[in-house]
Amino acid sequence: MGPPGADGRFGEFGGRFVPESLVPACQELERAFSDAWADPEYRAKLDAILRDYGGRPTPVTECFRLSERLGVRVLLKREDLVHAGSHKLNNVVGQALLTQRMGKRRMVAETGAGQHGVAAATAAALLGLECTVYMGELDTERQELNVFRMELLGAQVRPVRSGSRTLKDAVNEALRDWVATVGHTHYCLGSVMGPHPFPYMVRELQRVVGDEARAQCRVLLDGRDPDVVVACVGGGSNAAGTFAGFVETAARLVGVEAAGGAAATNGIPGVLHGMRSLLLQDEAGQILEAESISAGLDYPGIGPEHASLGASGRAAYESATDDEVLAAFQLMAETEGILPALEPAHAIAWVVREAGRSVPEGSSVLVTLSGRGDKDVAQVRDLLATGRPPR
Ligand SMILES: *Cc1c(COP(=O)(O)O)cnc(C)c1O
Repeated sequence: MGPPGADGRFGEFGGRFVPESLVPACQELERAFSDAWADPEYRAKLDAILRDYGGRPTPVTECFRLSERLGVRVLLKREDLVHAGSHKLNNVVGQALLTQRMGKRRMVAETGAGQHGVAAATAAALLGLECTVYMGELDTERQELNVFRMELLGAQVRPVRSGSRTLKDAVNEALRDWVATVGHTHYCLGSVMGPHPFPYMVRELQRVVGDEARAQCRVLLDGRDPDVVVACVGGGSNAAGTFAGFVETAARLVGVEAAGGAAATNGIPGVLHGMRSLLLQDEAGQILEAESISAGLDYPGIGPEHASLGASGRAAYESATDDEVLAAFQLMAETEGILPALEPAHAIAWVVREAGRSVPEGSSVLVTLSGRGDKDVAQVRDLLATGRPPR
C-alpha cells in the first residue's frame, strides 16, 4: 500500500474536507510527517521506544489446539502483548515524537471508549507533553475507569456535551481545539481516518504490525505467506497496518466489523471528520450511531483506504454478531489460554464461522490480535450472566 494520490485520495475516498482554517495545519503536518518518515534518526528513535518500552517485536503465536478444532492453521499476531495492551501504542508514540519534532508541547486527542485516550496520555507522559483528551459525556459515564486512568497519566479529560455526546462529537471538539491552538498543539488522531495526512500517517505508523508478521509467518510457514490475513476494523488502523505487510502477496485480506457498525458493508459514501468515506447514515444523511458490545468498534465510518480496498476488491469486509464474538472470546480463552479484547474477537469469530467453508481445510490464517481482553472481562461476565448483550 503506497502513498495516497493527490489531495490524499485513495480512489474516490479520502481527501481533505476541512474548513479553510484547518488547511495550513494539515499541510504543516503532511510536510512534517513525510520529512520525519524519511529521516533515519526519527525512525531509529521510534523503533527504540517501541522495542525498549513497548516490547516489540511482538511474537506470532501458532494456535495448536484451536487449529486442530477448526481444521485450519491459525496464527496470531500478538499486539495484545504491546505495552498498554494494544496496537494503539505504535501510533501514539509515532505522533508524540512528531509533536516534539514540530517544536510543539501539547497533544489533543479524541476518544470513544477511552482506549485511544489512554494510549495518547501514555505517550504524552513518556515524552513529557501536555495532553487534553476529548470524550463524549455519555462515554465518560460509561467508561469512568478509563477517565481516571487518563488522569493518573497526567492528561486532562474534557467531556463533550454536544450532539450525541459520543465519539463523533469528541472528534469535532478535538478538531476545533486544534484549529485554535495549532501553534503549540498537535492533534493525535486515533485511527486511519480524518483529513489527509492522517489516514496515510496512521497506516504507516501501524505497518510495523504487518511487516513484522510477514517475516514471522515466512519462518513458521516454510517460506510461504498465509493464505488468509484477518483483522478487526473499527476505524481500521490495526487492519491497515496488517494489510500493508501483505497487500503485495497473494493472501486473501479480510477486515471484520461489528455487525451493528458495519460501515464497509452498509455504509453510504459521504463526508465526515474531514474525509470522504463509507459512513452509516439514514436516508436524510444523518450519521447513525454504531452499536456493538465492543466499544472500540463503534465508529460510524471506516477509514478511506479500506473503502477503497473494498471497492477495488483487494480486501473484503465482513461482519460478526455480538453472540458470535462472545463465543469466540470463550473459545480462545479455553483452547489457547488467551483472553482477546472483544475487538479482535470479531476477527476470530469470522475465522470460526468460515473455517471449512470459505476458508478451506488446511489453509493458514493469520489473525491480528489487536489487544488483550482484561479490559472486557467484567462486561463479558455480565453478558454471559444475562445471556443478552446490553446497550
Ligand atoms: C481501538 C481498538 C481497535 C479499533 O481500532 P482500529 O483503528 O480499527 O484498529 C481494535 N482493537 C483494539 C484492541 C483496540 O483497542
